[in-house]
Amino acid sequence: LNAKPWFKHYPAEIPQSVEYEVATLQSYLKKSAEKFPMKSALNFMGKEMTYTEVYEAALKLANQLKKLGVEKGDRVAIMLANTPQAVISYYGALFAGAIVVQTNPLYVEREIEHQMNDSGAKVMICLDLVYPRVARVQEKTKLEHVIVTGIKDYLPFPKNMIYPFIQKKNTGISVKLDYNERLHSFVKLIENGTIEEIDVHIDPKEDLALLQYTGGTTGPAKGVMLTHYNLVVNTQQCQLWMPKLNEAEEVVLAALPFFHVYGMTTVMNLSIRMGFKMIIMPKFEPKDILKAIEKHKATLYPGAPTMYIGLLNHPDITKHDLSSIKACISGSAPLPLEVQTSFEEKTKGRLVEGYGLTETSPVAAANLIWSSRKNGSIGIPWPDTDMAVLSVENADIAEPNEIGEIMIKGPQVMKGYWNRPEDTQATFKGEWLLTGDMGYMDEDGFFYIVDRKKDMIIAGGFNIYPREIEEVLYEHEDIQEACAIGVPDPYRGETVKAFIVLKEGRQVSEVELEEYCRKQLAAYKIPRIFEFRDELPKTMVGKILRRVLVEEEKSKLKKT
Ligand code: AMP
Repeated sequence: LNAKPWFKHYPAEIPQSVEYEVATLQSYLKKSAEKFPMKSALNFMGKEMTYTEVYEAALKLANQLKKLGVEKGDRVAIMLANTPQAVISYYGALFAGAIVVQTNPLYVEREIEHQMNDSGAKVMICLDLVYPRVARVQEKTKLEHVIVTGIKDYLPFPKNMIYPFIQKKNTGISVKLDYNERLHSFVKLIENGTIEEIDVHIDPKEDLALLQYTGGTTGPAKGVMLTHYNLVVNTQQCQLWMPKLNEAEEVVLAALPFFHVYGMTTVMNLSIRMGFKMIIMPKFEPKDILKAIEKHKATLYPGAPTMYIGLLNHPDITKHDLSSIKACISGSAPLPLEVQTSFEEKTKGRLVEGYGLTETSPVAAANLIWSSRKNGSIGIPWPDTDMAVLSVENADIAEPNEIGEIMIKGPQVMKGYWNRPEDTQATFKGEWLLTGDMGYMDEDGFFYIVDRKKDMIIAGGFNIYPREIEEVLYEHEDIQEACAIGVPDPYRGETVKAFIVLKEGRQVSEVELEEYCRKQLAAYKIPRIFEFRDELPKTMVGKILRRVLVEEEKSKLKKT
Protein backbone atom coordinates (compact mmCIF):
# COMPACT_ATOMS: atom_id res chain seq x y z
CA LEU A 1 0.00 0.00 0.00
CA ASN A 2 1.45 3.35 -1.02
CA ALA A 3 0.27 6.73 0.14
CA LYS A 4 1.90 10.19 0.39
CA PRO A 5 -0.48 12.17 -1.87
CA TRP A 6 -0.23 15.00 0.66
CA PHE A 7 3.45 15.51 -0.17
CA LYS A 8 2.72 17.93 -2.97
CA HIS A 9 1.14 20.33 -0.50
CA TYR A 10 3.89 20.22 2.09
CA PRO A 11 4.61 23.67 3.55
CA ALA A 12 7.77 25.39 2.36
CA GLU A 13 9.01 26.32 5.84
CA ILE A 14 9.15 22.73 7.09
CA PRO A 15 11.35 20.01 5.58
CA GLN A 16 9.54 16.89 4.45
CA SER A 17 12.43 14.73 5.37
CA VAL A 18 15.62 15.08 7.42
CA GLU A 19 18.37 12.90 8.85
CA TYR A 20 17.59 12.41 12.52
CA GLU A 21 20.25 12.38 15.16
CA VAL A 22 20.57 8.78 16.39
CA ALA A 23 20.95 9.34 20.12
CA THR A 24 19.69 8.28 23.50
CA LEU A 25 17.15 10.38 25.35
CA GLN A 26 19.52 10.95 28.24
CA SER A 27 22.15 12.43 25.90
CA TYR A 28 19.83 15.44 25.58
CA LEU A 29 20.17 16.23 29.26
CA LYS A 30 23.92 15.75 29.18
CA LYS A 31 24.29 18.07 26.19
CA SER A 32 22.10 20.77 27.68
CA ALA A 33 24.05 20.60 30.94
CA GLU A 34 27.23 21.14 28.93
CA LYS A 35 25.76 23.93 26.82
CA PHE A 36 23.72 25.77 29.44
CA PRO A 37 25.17 24.67 32.79
CA MET A 38 23.82 27.48 34.93
CA LYS A 39 20.57 28.01 33.12
CA SER A 40 17.36 27.21 34.94
CA ALA A 41 15.91 23.94 33.69
CA LEU A 42 12.84 24.02 35.86
CA ASN A 43 10.80 25.89 38.39
CA PHE A 44 8.60 24.02 40.85
CA MET A 45 6.52 26.19 43.16
CA GLY A 46 9.32 28.73 43.29
CA LYS A 47 12.19 26.24 43.53
CA GLU A 48 14.56 26.58 40.57
CA MET A 49 17.05 23.94 39.41
CA THR A 50 19.79 24.52 36.85
CA TYR A 51 20.66 22.09 34.06
CA THR A 52 23.78 21.08 35.97
CA GLU A 53 21.78 20.36 39.11
CA VAL A 54 19.25 18.22 37.27
CA TYR A 55 22.00 16.37 35.37
CA GLU A 56 24.02 15.64 38.48
CA ALA A 57 20.99 14.53 40.47
CA ALA A 58 20.04 12.15 37.64
CA LEU A 59 23.56 10.69 37.54
CA LYS A 60 23.56 10.22 41.31
CA LEU A 61 20.27 8.38 41.14
CA ALA A 62 21.57 6.25 38.25
CA ASN A 63 24.57 5.16 40.32
CA GLN A 64 22.32 4.30 43.24
CA LEU A 65 20.04 2.28 40.97
CA LYS A 66 23.10 0.41 39.74
CA LYS A 67 24.03 -0.38 43.35
CA LEU A 68 20.51 -1.73 43.86
CA GLY A 69 21.17 -4.16 41.01
CA VAL A 70 19.57 -2.35 38.08
CA GLU A 71 21.15 -3.42 34.81
CA LYS A 72 20.58 -2.60 31.18
CA GLY A 73 17.04 -3.47 30.11
CA ASP A 74 15.64 -3.79 33.65
CA ARG A 75 12.35 -2.04 34.16
CA VAL A 76 12.12 0.87 36.59
CA ALA A 77 8.62 2.12 37.33
CA ILE A 78 8.03 5.79 38.09
CA MET A 79 4.80 6.72 39.84
CA LEU A 80 5.12 10.44 40.41
CA ALA A 81 3.14 13.61 39.86
CA ASN A 82 4.89 16.42 37.95
CA THR A 83 7.77 17.37 40.26
CA PRO A 84 11.55 17.83 39.91
CA GLN A 85 11.82 14.24 41.16
CA ALA A 86 9.84 13.02 38.13
CA VAL A 87 12.42 14.58 35.79
CA ILE A 88 15.39 13.32 37.82
CA SER A 89 13.94 9.81 38.10
CA TYR A 90 13.24 9.55 34.38
CA TYR A 91 16.74 10.55 33.29
CA GLY A 92 18.32 8.72 36.24
CA ALA A 93 16.70 5.43 35.21
CA LEU A 94 17.75 6.01 31.59
CA PHE A 95 21.36 6.78 32.58
CA ALA A 96 21.36 3.44 34.40
CA GLY A 97 20.34 1.76 31.13
CA ALA A 98 16.88 0.87 32.42
CA ILE A 99 13.53 0.97 30.63
CA VAL A 100 11.14 3.44 32.25
CA VAL A 101 7.63 2.26 33.06
CA GLN A 102 5.55 5.38 33.63
CA THR A 103 2.78 4.70 36.11
CA ASN A 104 -0.20 6.91 36.80
CA PRO A 105 -0.16 7.98 40.49
CA LEU A 106 -3.94 7.67 40.60
CA TYR A 107 -3.82 3.94 39.95
CA VAL A 108 -5.49 1.73 42.51
CA GLU A 109 -3.90 -1.48 43.80
CA ARG A 110 -5.36 -3.72 41.10
CA GLU A 111 -3.96 -1.48 38.35
CA ILE A 112 -0.53 -1.16 39.99
CA GLU A 113 -0.32 -4.92 40.38
CA HIS A 114 -1.26 -5.49 36.73
CA GLN A 115 1.26 -2.98 35.42
CA MET A 116 4.12 -4.19 37.65
CA ASN A 117 3.52 -7.82 36.73
CA ASP A 118 3.02 -7.15 33.07
CA SER A 119 6.22 -5.09 32.83
CA GLY A 120 8.17 -7.15 35.36
CA ALA A 121 9.48 -3.95 37.00
CA LYS A 122 12.30 -4.44 39.50
CA VAL A 123 12.32 -1.01 41.12
CA MET A 124 9.61 1.55 41.70
CA ILE A 125 10.08 5.24 42.49
CA CYS A 126 6.92 6.71 43.99
CA LEU A 127 5.44 9.49 46.06
CA ASP A 128 5.10 8.83 49.78
CA LEU A 129 1.37 9.41 49.48
CA VAL A 130 0.89 6.51 47.10
CA TYR A 131 3.39 4.23 48.81
CA PRO A 132 0.78 2.45 50.99
CA ARG A 133 -0.93 1.26 47.79
CA VAL A 134 2.37 0.00 46.40
CA ALA A 135 3.28 -1.71 49.67
CA ARG A 136 0.03 -3.65 49.73
CA VAL A 137 0.77 -5.27 46.35
CA GLN A 138 4.56 -5.42 46.40
CA GLU A 139 4.74 -9.07 47.49
CA LYS A 140 2.58 -10.09 44.54
CA THR A 141 5.01 -8.45 42.08
CA LYS A 142 8.71 -8.63 41.18
CA LEU A 143 9.45 -5.26 42.78
CA GLU A 144 12.68 -5.71 44.74
CA HIS A 145 13.09 -2.08 45.79
CA VAL A 146 10.84 0.89 46.34
CA ILE A 147 12.24 4.43 46.48
CA VAL A 148 9.99 6.98 48.10
CA THR A 149 9.89 10.76 47.84
CA GLY A 150 7.60 13.44 49.23
CA ILE A 151 6.12 16.08 46.95
CA LYS A 152 7.75 18.69 49.20
CA ASP A 153 11.24 17.16 49.20
CA TYR A 154 12.61 19.73 46.80
CA LEU A 155 10.87 22.77 48.16
CA PRO A 156 12.76 25.50 49.94
CA PHE A 157 10.35 25.96 52.84
CA PRO A 158 10.40 23.94 56.07
CA LYS A 159 9.31 20.33 55.76
CA ASN A 160 6.59 20.68 58.37
CA MET A 161 4.84 23.46 56.48
CA ILE A 162 1.98 22.10 54.48
CA TYR A 163 1.84 23.70 51.08
CA PRO A 164 -1.64 25.00 50.17
CA PHE A 165 -1.86 22.78 47.08
CA ILE A 166 -1.52 19.69 49.21
CA GLN A 167 -3.75 21.02 51.94
CA LYS A 168 -6.48 21.74 49.41
CA LYS A 169 -6.60 18.13 48.36
CA ASN A 170 -6.38 17.04 51.96
CA THR A 171 -3.45 14.82 51.19
CA GLY A 172 -0.87 16.67 53.23
CA ILE A 173 -0.40 13.99 55.83
CA SER A 174 3.28 13.10 55.77
CA VAL A 175 3.78 9.40 55.80
CA LYS A 176 6.33 8.26 58.33
CA LEU A 177 8.31 5.41 56.85
CA ASP A 178 10.77 2.93 58.31
CA TYR A 179 13.40 2.65 55.62
CA ASN A 180 15.18 -0.70 55.21
CA GLU A 181 17.21 -2.58 52.60
CA ARG A 182 14.21 -2.72 50.25
CA LEU A 183 12.66 0.65 51.02
CA HIS A 184 14.73 3.74 50.31
CA SER A 185 14.51 7.48 50.68
CA PHE A 186 14.92 9.30 47.36
CA VAL A 187 16.52 12.33 48.99
CA LYS A 188 19.03 10.19 50.93
CA LEU A 189 19.98 8.25 47.82
CA ILE A 190 20.68 11.47 45.93
CA GLU A 191 22.60 12.95 48.88
CA ASN A 192 24.88 9.93 48.97
CA GLY A 193 25.13 9.38 45.23
CA THR A 194 28.16 9.82 43.02
CA ILE A 195 28.26 11.58 39.68
CA GLU A 196 30.35 9.35 37.46
CA GLU A 197 28.77 8.26 34.20
CA ILE A 198 27.65 4.67 33.90
CA ASP A 199 29.17 2.68 31.12
CA VAL A 200 26.21 1.07 29.45
CA HIS A 201 25.91 0.57 25.73
CA ILE A 202 22.58 1.58 24.25
CA ASP A 203 21.63 1.06 20.63
CA PRO A 204 19.02 3.82 20.17
CA LYS A 205 17.25 2.09 17.29
CA GLU A 206 16.92 -1.26 19.03
CA ASP A 207 16.91 -0.61 22.76
CA LEU A 208 13.76 0.42 24.57
CA ALA A 209 13.60 3.63 26.58
CA LEU A 210 10.05 3.21 27.65
CA LEU A 211 7.18 0.86 28.24
CA GLN A 212 4.27 3.22 28.02
CA TYR A 213 0.95 1.75 29.07
CA THR A 214 -1.83 3.18 26.92
CA GLY A 215 -4.20 5.74 28.37
CA GLY A 216 -6.86 3.22 29.24
CA THR A 217 -9.62 4.65 27.12
CA THR A 218 -9.67 1.31 25.30
CA GLY A 219 -9.42 -2.29 26.56
CA PRO A 220 -6.85 -3.60 29.07
CA ALA A 221 -3.60 -1.62 29.45
CA LYS A 222 -0.79 -2.88 27.19
CA GLY A 223 2.85 -1.82 27.33
CA VAL A 224 3.83 0.11 24.20
CA MET A 225 7.52 -0.49 23.44
CA LEU A 226 9.14 2.80 22.46
CA THR A 227 12.83 2.87 21.56
CA HIS A 228 15.20 5.73 22.26
CA TYR A 229 15.13 6.45 18.53
CA ASN A 230 11.30 6.59 18.41
CA LEU A 231 11.34 9.22 21.14
CA VAL A 232 14.32 11.32 20.04
CA VAL A 233 12.88 11.42 16.53
CA ASN A 234 9.49 12.63 17.78
CA THR A 235 11.23 15.28 19.87
CA GLN A 236 13.24 16.44 16.84
CA GLN A 237 10.04 16.46 14.78
CA CYS A 238 8.45 18.76 17.40
CA GLN A 239 11.38 21.10 16.96
CA LEU A 240 11.08 21.04 13.15
CA TRP A 241 7.38 21.81 13.41
CA MET A 242 7.98 24.91 15.52
CA PRO A 243 10.82 26.72 13.74
CA LYS A 244 10.09 29.95 15.56
CA LEU A 245 11.07 28.55 18.94
CA ASN A 246 14.43 29.72 20.20
CA GLU A 247 16.93 27.51 21.96
CA ALA A 248 17.32 28.26 25.68
CA GLU A 249 14.69 31.01 25.50
CA GLU A 250 11.25 29.48 25.75
CA VAL A 251 9.32 28.96 28.97
CA VAL A 252 7.03 25.94 28.91
CA LEU A 253 4.06 25.52 31.16
CA ALA A 254 4.35 21.87 32.18
CA ALA A 255 0.82 20.99 33.20
CA LEU A 256 0.47 17.87 31.06
CA PRO A 257 1.59 14.94 33.18
CA PHE A 258 5.07 13.63 32.40
CA PHE A 259 3.87 10.07 32.94
CA HIS A 260 1.70 10.40 29.84
CA VAL A 261 3.56 10.16 26.54
CA TYR A 262 2.11 13.47 25.36
CA GLY A 263 3.57 15.50 28.24
CA MET A 264 6.71 13.43 28.25
CA THR A 265 7.66 14.19 24.64
CA THR A 266 6.18 17.60 23.89
CA VAL A 267 7.01 19.09 27.28
CA MET A 268 9.84 17.25 29.04
CA ASN A 269 11.93 15.80 26.21
CA LEU A 270 11.56 18.88 24.02
CA SER A 271 12.41 21.28 26.86
CA ILE A 272 15.45 19.32 27.94
CA ARG A 273 16.72 19.05 24.36
CA MET A 274 16.25 22.75 23.65
CA GLY A 275 17.41 24.17 26.98
CA PHE A 276 13.96 25.59 27.77
CA LYS A 277 12.68 26.22 31.26
CA MET A 278 9.75 24.15 32.49
CA ILE A 279 7.28 25.63 34.94
CA ILE A 280 6.21 22.43 36.63
CA MET A 281 2.62 22.19 37.77
CA PRO A 282 1.81 19.10 39.84
CA LYS A 283 -1.86 19.39 39.09
CA PHE A 284 -4.18 21.08 36.60
CA GLU A 285 -5.70 23.95 38.55
CA PRO A 286 -6.91 26.70 36.15
CA LYS A 287 -6.40 29.48 38.68
CA ASP A 288 -2.77 28.49 39.30
CA ILE A 289 -2.09 28.03 35.58
CA LEU A 290 -3.39 31.51 34.75
CA LYS A 291 -1.20 33.00 37.46
CA ALA A 292 1.84 31.01 36.35
CA ILE A 293 1.51 32.02 32.67
CA GLU A 294 1.53 35.68 33.68
CA LYS A 295 4.23 35.40 36.33
CA HIS A 296 6.72 33.37 34.30
CA LYS A 297 5.75 34.80 30.91
CA ALA A 298 5.20 31.30 29.60
CA THR A 299 5.53 31.04 25.84
CA LEU A 300 4.34 27.47 25.28
CA TYR A 301 1.39 25.69 26.80
CA PRO A 302 0.79 22.25 25.32
CA GLY A 303 -2.47 20.80 26.56
CA ALA A 304 -5.58 18.76 25.99
CA PRO A 305 -8.86 20.45 25.00
CA THR A 306 -10.24 20.32 28.54
CA MET A 307 -7.21 22.25 29.75
CA TYR A 308 -8.05 25.14 27.43
CA ILE A 309 -11.74 24.88 28.24
CA GLY A 310 -10.88 24.98 31.95
CA LEU A 311 -8.92 28.23 31.55
CA LEU A 312 -11.48 29.88 29.30
CA ASN A 313 -14.30 29.26 31.72
CA HIS A 314 -12.42 30.45 34.77
CA PRO A 315 -13.63 33.83 36.04
CA ASP A 316 -10.01 34.99 36.54
CA ILE A 317 -9.15 34.74 32.84
CA THR A 318 -9.67 38.48 32.33
CA LYS A 319 -7.46 39.35 35.30
CA HIS A 320 -4.27 37.92 33.84
CA ASP A 321 -2.01 38.93 31.01
CA LEU A 322 -1.61 35.88 28.80
CA SER A 323 0.02 37.68 25.90
CA SER A 324 3.37 35.90 26.36
CA ILE A 325 1.90 32.71 24.88
CA LYS A 326 3.31 32.01 21.42
CA ALA A 327 2.03 28.57 20.61
CA CYS A 328 -0.15 25.79 21.90
CA ILE A 329 -0.71 22.41 20.34
CA SER A 330 -3.83 20.71 21.54
CA GLY A 331 -3.90 16.96 21.30
CA SER A 332 -5.34 13.75 22.71
CA ALA A 333 -8.97 14.56 21.87
CA PRO A 334 -10.92 16.72 19.41
CA LEU A 335 -10.53 20.45 19.93
CA PRO A 336 -13.89 22.22 19.63
CA LEU A 337 -13.65 25.19 17.24
CA GLU A 338 -15.21 27.51 19.76
CA VAL A 339 -12.40 26.81 22.18
CA GLN A 340 -9.71 27.40 19.59
CA THR A 341 -11.09 30.79 18.56
CA SER A 342 -11.74 32.12 22.07
CA PHE A 343 -8.35 30.99 23.31
CA GLU A 344 -6.56 32.75 20.47
CA GLU A 345 -8.55 35.91 21.20
CA LYS A 346 -7.52 35.82 24.85
CA THR A 347 -3.79 35.29 24.18
CA LYS A 348 -1.54 36.61 21.44
CA GLY A 349 -0.65 33.07 20.50
CA ARG A 350 -1.85 30.37 18.19
CA LEU A 351 -3.67 27.25 19.24
CA VAL A 352 -3.65 24.44 16.71
CA GLU A 353 -4.81 20.88 16.77
CA GLY A 354 -2.43 17.96 16.56
CA TYR A 355 -2.92 14.22 16.63
CA GLY A 356 -1.17 11.14 17.76
CA LEU A 357 -1.24 8.14 20.02
CA THR A 358 0.97 6.40 22.51
CA GLU A 359 2.00 4.00 19.74
CA THR A 360 3.49 6.95 17.77
CA SER A 361 5.56 8.51 20.57
CA PRO A 362 2.96 10.31 20.33
CA VAL A 363 2.71 12.97 17.60
CA ALA A 364 1.99 11.98 14.00
CA ALA A 365 0.24 15.03 12.54
CA ALA A 366 -0.61 18.64 13.31
CA ASN A 367 -1.79 21.84 11.77
CA LEU A 368 0.77 24.48 10.96
CA ILE A 369 1.10 26.91 13.76
CA TRP A 370 2.08 30.03 11.87
CA SER A 371 0.72 29.32 8.43
CA SER A 372 -1.96 27.21 6.81
CA ARG A 373 -4.32 25.29 8.98
CA LYS A 374 -7.79 23.97 8.57
CA ASN A 375 -10.33 24.20 11.31
CA GLY A 376 -11.61 20.88 12.50
CA SER A 377 -8.66 19.06 10.91
CA ILE A 378 -5.86 17.28 12.76
CA GLY A 379 -3.48 18.71 10.15
CA ILE A 380 -0.93 17.07 7.90
CA PRO A 381 1.57 14.33 8.73
CA TRP A 382 4.84 15.33 10.36
CA PRO A 383 8.16 15.13 8.50
CA ASP A 384 9.05 11.60 7.42
CA THR A 385 5.63 10.43 8.56
CA ASP A 386 3.16 8.94 6.16
CA MET A 387 -0.55 8.76 6.85
CA ALA A 388 -3.30 7.18 4.83
CA VAL A 389 -6.89 6.04 5.10
CA LEU A 390 -7.71 2.38 4.69
CA SER A 391 -10.85 1.97 2.66
CA VAL A 392 -13.62 -0.02 4.31
CA GLU A 393 -14.77 -1.13 0.86
CA ASN A 394 -11.69 -2.77 -0.59
CA ALA A 395 -8.89 -2.72 2.03
CA ASP A 396 -6.89 -0.37 -0.23
CA ILE A 397 -5.95 3.29 0.18
CA ALA A 398 -9.18 5.28 0.21
CA GLU A 399 -10.03 8.09 -2.16
CA PRO A 400 -9.91 11.66 -0.80
CA ASN A 401 -12.92 12.39 1.41
CA GLU A 402 -13.75 8.70 1.83
CA ILE A 403 -14.03 7.61 5.46
CA GLY A 404 -11.89 4.71 6.63
CA GLU A 405 -9.37 3.73 9.28
CA ILE A 406 -6.36 6.02 9.60
CA MET A 407 -2.94 4.35 9.29
CA ILE A 408 0.51 5.72 10.11
CA LYS A 409 4.03 4.87 9.01
CA GLY A 410 7.13 6.61 10.32
CA PRO A 411 10.23 6.53 12.51
CA GLN A 412 8.22 7.37 15.63
CA VAL A 413 6.01 4.26 15.32
CA MET A 414 6.45 1.79 18.20
CA LYS A 415 8.29 -1.49 18.06
CA GLY A 416 5.21 -3.36 19.26
CA TYR A 417 3.36 -4.31 22.45
CA TRP A 418 5.42 -5.78 25.27
CA ASN A 419 5.02 -9.57 25.39
CA ARG A 420 1.95 -9.46 23.16
CA PRO A 421 2.99 -10.59 19.68
CA GLU A 422 -0.60 -11.27 18.64
CA ASP A 423 -1.78 -7.79 19.56
CA THR A 424 1.25 -6.37 17.78
CA GLN A 425 0.48 -8.33 14.65
CA ALA A 426 -3.15 -7.26 14.70
CA THR A 427 -2.17 -3.59 14.96
CA PHE A 428 0.08 -3.56 11.93
CA LYS A 429 -0.81 -3.95 8.27
CA GLY A 430 2.66 -4.40 6.83
CA GLU A 431 4.56 -1.34 8.00
CA TRP A 432 1.38 0.62 8.62
CA LEU A 433 0.13 1.09 12.16
CA LEU A 434 -3.65 0.77 12.33
CA THR A 435 -4.89 3.49 14.66
CA GLY A 436 -8.50 2.45 15.27
CA ASP A 437 -9.46 6.04 14.41
CA MET A 438 -11.96 6.57 11.62
CA GLY A 439 -11.33 9.56 9.42
CA TYR A 440 -10.61 10.91 5.97
CA MET A 441 -8.15 13.02 4.01
CA ASP A 442 -9.27 15.98 1.91
CA GLU A 443 -7.88 16.96 -1.51
CA ASP A 444 -5.19 19.10 0.12
CA GLY A 445 -3.85 16.26 2.22
CA PHE A 446 -5.35 17.44 5.52
CA PHE A 447 -6.67 14.68 7.73
CA TYR A 448 -9.86 14.65 9.79
CA ILE A 449 -10.89 12.33 12.58
CA VAL A 450 -14.48 11.30 12.49
CA ASP A 451 -14.36 8.99 15.48
CA ARG A 452 -12.88 5.97 17.20
CA LYS A 453 -13.73 2.77 15.37
CA LYS A 454 -15.47 1.32 18.37
CA ASP A 455 -17.21 4.52 19.50
CA MET A 456 -19.40 4.56 16.43
CA ILE A 457 -23.08 4.29 17.31
CA ILE A 458 -25.37 2.32 15.01
CA ALA A 459 -28.99 3.38 15.38
CA GLY A 460 -31.61 1.86 13.13
CA GLY A 461 -28.86 0.92 10.67
CA PHE A 462 -27.42 4.43 10.49
CA ASN A 463 -23.81 5.03 11.47
CA ILE A 464 -23.54 7.90 13.91
CA TYR A 465 -20.24 9.41 14.98
CA PRO A 466 -20.51 10.84 18.52
CA ARG A 467 -17.96 13.51 17.64
CA GLU A 468 -20.41 15.23 15.30
CA ILE A 469 -23.09 15.42 17.98
CA GLU A 470 -20.57 16.68 20.52
CA GLU A 471 -19.39 19.44 18.14
CA VAL A 472 -22.98 20.67 17.92
CA LEU A 473 -23.46 20.53 21.68
CA TYR A 474 -20.20 22.39 22.34
CA GLU A 475 -21.47 25.25 20.20
CA HIS A 476 -24.39 25.75 22.59
CA GLU A 477 -23.67 28.79 24.74
CA ASP A 478 -24.67 27.15 28.02
CA ILE A 479 -22.71 23.94 27.60
CA GLN A 480 -19.24 23.47 29.03
CA GLU A 481 -18.68 19.80 28.23
CA ALA A 482 -20.54 17.09 26.37
CA CYS A 483 -20.15 13.42 25.62
CA ALA A 484 -22.47 11.33 23.45
CA ILE A 485 -22.64 7.56 23.67
CA GLY A 486 -24.80 4.77 22.30
CA VAL A 487 -27.21 3.03 24.67
CA PRO A 488 -29.24 -0.09 23.88
CA ASP A 489 -32.61 0.56 22.36
CA PRO A 490 -35.10 -2.24 21.78
CA TYR A 491 -36.30 -0.81 18.49
CA ARG A 492 -33.28 0.92 16.92
CA GLY A 493 -30.56 -1.33 18.36
CA GLU A 494 -28.85 1.68 19.83
CA THR A 495 -29.86 5.23 20.49
CA VAL A 496 -27.90 8.34 21.41
CA LYS A 497 -27.57 9.53 24.97
CA ALA A 498 -25.76 12.78 25.76
CA PHE A 499 -24.07 13.65 29.04
CA ILE A 500 -23.93 17.38 29.61
CA VAL A 501 -21.99 19.63 31.98
CA LEU A 502 -23.44 23.14 31.98
CA LYS A 503 -21.38 26.28 32.47
CA GLU A 504 -21.61 27.65 35.98
CA GLY A 505 -24.91 29.31 36.81
CA ARG A 506 -26.57 28.30 33.52
CA GLN A 507 -29.81 26.43 33.16
CA VAL A 508 -31.29 24.69 30.20
CA SER A 509 -33.88 21.95 29.94
CA GLU A 510 -33.80 18.65 28.13
CA VAL A 511 -36.59 19.84 25.83
CA GLU A 512 -34.66 22.98 24.91
CA LEU A 513 -31.57 20.95 24.10
CA GLU A 514 -33.55 18.57 21.96
CA GLU A 515 -35.03 21.51 20.05
CA TYR A 516 -31.55 22.96 19.59
CA CYS A 517 -30.18 19.67 18.23
CA ARG A 518 -33.16 19.28 15.93
CA LYS A 519 -32.08 22.42 14.08
CA GLN A 520 -28.59 21.12 13.47
CA LEU A 521 -28.69 17.36 13.18
CA ALA A 522 -30.54 14.76 11.16
CA ALA A 523 -33.36 13.26 13.19
CA TYR A 524 -31.63 9.92 13.76
CA LYS A 525 -28.64 11.63 15.35
CA ILE A 526 -30.55 13.67 17.93
CA PRO A 527 -29.88 12.44 21.46
CA ARG A 528 -33.02 10.85 22.87
CA ILE A 529 -31.78 11.07 26.43
CA PHE A 530 -29.88 13.90 28.11
CA GLU A 531 -28.24 13.53 31.49
CA PHE A 532 -26.90 16.56 33.33
CA ARG A 533 -23.78 16.11 35.44
CA ASP A 534 -21.50 18.32 37.50
CA GLU A 535 -18.46 16.77 35.84
CA LEU A 536 -17.49 13.98 33.48
CA PRO A 537 -14.97 11.20 34.22
CA LYS A 538 -11.58 12.04 32.67
CA THR A 539 -8.08 10.68 32.24
CA MET A 540 -5.14 12.56 33.72
CA VAL A 541 -4.65 14.47 30.47
CA GLY A 542 -8.27 15.51 30.59
CA LYS A 543 -9.61 13.18 27.95
CA ILE A 544 -13.23 12.34 28.66
CA LEU A 545 -13.51 8.67 29.58
CA ARG A 546 -16.29 7.65 27.27
CA ARG A 547 -15.77 4.02 28.22
CA VAL A 548 -16.62 4.73 31.88
CA LEU A 549 -19.92 6.30 30.88
CA VAL A 550 -20.69 3.37 28.58
CA GLU A 551 -19.95 0.92 31.39
CA GLU A 552 -22.10 2.85 33.85
CA GLU A 553 -24.99 2.56 31.43
CA LYS A 554 -24.41 -1.16 30.97
CA SER A 555 -24.34 -1.84 34.70
CA LYS A 556 -27.55 0.18 35.16
CA LEU A 557 -29.20 -2.07 32.59
CA LYS A 558 -28.03 -5.23 34.34
CA LYS A 559 -29.63 -4.05 37.58
CA THR A 560 -33.04 -3.45 35.99
P1 AMP B 1 -3.48 7.82 23.73
O1 AMP B 1 -2.71 6.65 23.21
O2 AMP B 1 -3.99 7.65 25.10
O3 AMP B 1 -2.70 9.10 23.57
O4 AMP B 1 -4.78 7.97 22.82
C1 AMP B 1 -4.69 8.09 21.43
C2 AMP B 1 -6.04 8.36 20.84
O5 AMP B 1 -6.48 9.67 21.21
C3 AMP B 1 -6.06 8.38 19.33
O6 AMP B 1 -6.09 7.09 18.78
C4 AMP B 1 -7.32 9.18 19.06
O7 AMP B 1 -8.48 8.36 19.17
C5 AMP B 1 -7.34 10.18 20.19
N1 AMP B 1 -6.85 11.49 19.73
C6 AMP B 1 -5.63 12.01 19.84
N2 AMP B 1 -5.57 13.24 19.31
C7 AMP B 1 -6.79 13.51 18.80
C8 AMP B 1 -7.39 14.61 18.11
N3 AMP B 1 -6.72 15.73 17.84
N4 AMP B 1 -8.68 14.48 17.74
C9 AMP B 1 -9.38 13.37 18.00
N5 AMP B 1 -8.89 12.31 18.66
C10 AMP B 1 -7.62 12.37 19.06
